[in-house]
Amino acid sequence: MEQLTRLVSGTKAFESLWKQFSADKFAHAYLVTSADPVYLHEFLVYASAMALCPKGGCFSCVTCKRVFALGHVDVHVYPKGKDKILVSDVNEIVGDCFIKPFEGERKVYIINDFDTMSPVLQNKLLKTLEEPPENTIFFLGATNESAVLATIKSRCQHVHVDDTSFEEVMKYLTNSGINEVDAEIAAGFCNNRPLLAEQYAKDKSFYKMFDDVLDAIKNLDSSKDALLCSAKLASYASKPQRLLQTLLLIYREALVYHSNEDMLLLKHKKNDILCIRQKYSQTALHNVIDLLSKAKVKFEYNCNASAVIDTLVLSILEVKHICQK
Ligand SMILES: [Zn+2]
Repeated sequence: MEQLTRLVSGTKAFESLWKQFSADKFAHAYLVTSADPVYLHEFLVYASAMALCPKGGCFSCVTCKRVFALGHVDVHVYPKGKDKILVSDVNEIVGDCFIKPFEGERKVYIINDFDTMSPVLQNKLLKTLEEPPENTIFFLGATNESAVLATIKSRCQHVHVDDTSFEEVMKYLTNSGINEVDAEIAAGFCNNRPLLAEQYAKDKSFYKMFDDVLDAIKNLDSSKDALLCSAKLASYASKPQRLLQTLLLIYREALVYHSNEDMLLLKHKKNDILCIRQKYSQTALHNVIDLLSKAKVKFEYNCNASAVIDTLVLSILEVKHICQK
C-alpha cells in the first residue's frame, strides 16, 4: 500500500487532480487512461478517496479507508464482479445517480473497462453525462482510448496516468519484495505496467513458461530441433498472447544486444540472450519480430494454435538460415 501510494502520488495525473480538488473544482466526468488496467483501477480508487476525504486525500482517515476497502456507500464501482458491464449495470447507474449522496457532499462512480462497453451501452450513458446530476463524479477508466466514443470524450476531462518507465517498474517491484531476477522478467514483460507486472511476478507458472521458452529458443538450431521446440511452445498454447509476448521479449532483447549491450532489460539473463544473439543476424532478428507480429494477428483470429506455432517455428528457422549476414 505504501509503495502504491508513492507510485500513484508521484504522477502528474495525480497532481493535476489534487490541485483541482483542493481548489474545490470537480468536473462531473473524467476519462482516465492508462496502459495498465490494474494500476488504472487503483488510481481511480485513490482519486475517489481524494474526492471524498474530508481532509482532501489523507489516505488514512475512516473515509479514505472505506473507499480503499470498496466499502464506502457513496462510491459505486462497475462492473460488479469480474465480468463486463451489462445493460442492467448501465440502467442502474442512469437510474440511481440522481439520488443524493448518503454521507458526504458528493458521490463517485468508477466505471472500469469503459472502452470494452459497446457503443450502444456507451450511448446509453451519454445523456447522463450531458445533463449530469449535481455532486456526482464519474471516473471512466479505459486502456484503449480509441474505443471510447468521441461524444463521450467531449463530455469528459481527459487524464492520462503517466507511463511508468522500466526503471520505475523495477523499483516498485523490488521495493515490494520481489527479487531482481524475477522483477526484471516481469517488468520487461509488462512494459510500463507496474501492477500488472506485480501480478505476473507472483505467478510461478509465468516464470516456468519464460524459462521453458527461453530454453526452447536457445536450442533451436536446425530443422532437427523444430519438432521439440514446437512441442515445448505448444504446451503453452492455451495462453497464446502470453506465449507470443514472451517470444517477443526474448527476441527483442537479442536485437538490442546487437546494437547496445547497456540497453538490455534482462541483465541477469545476459548470457542466455548472448547465446541467441550469436546465432541470428540483425536482419534475421528483425524478420523474426515481424513473424511474431503476424502470428499475434492469427491468434487474435483464433486460428488453430498448434498449426500457427508449427509454421512460426519453421519460419523462424528459415529466416535464421537465409539472413546469415
Ligand atoms: Zn482521508
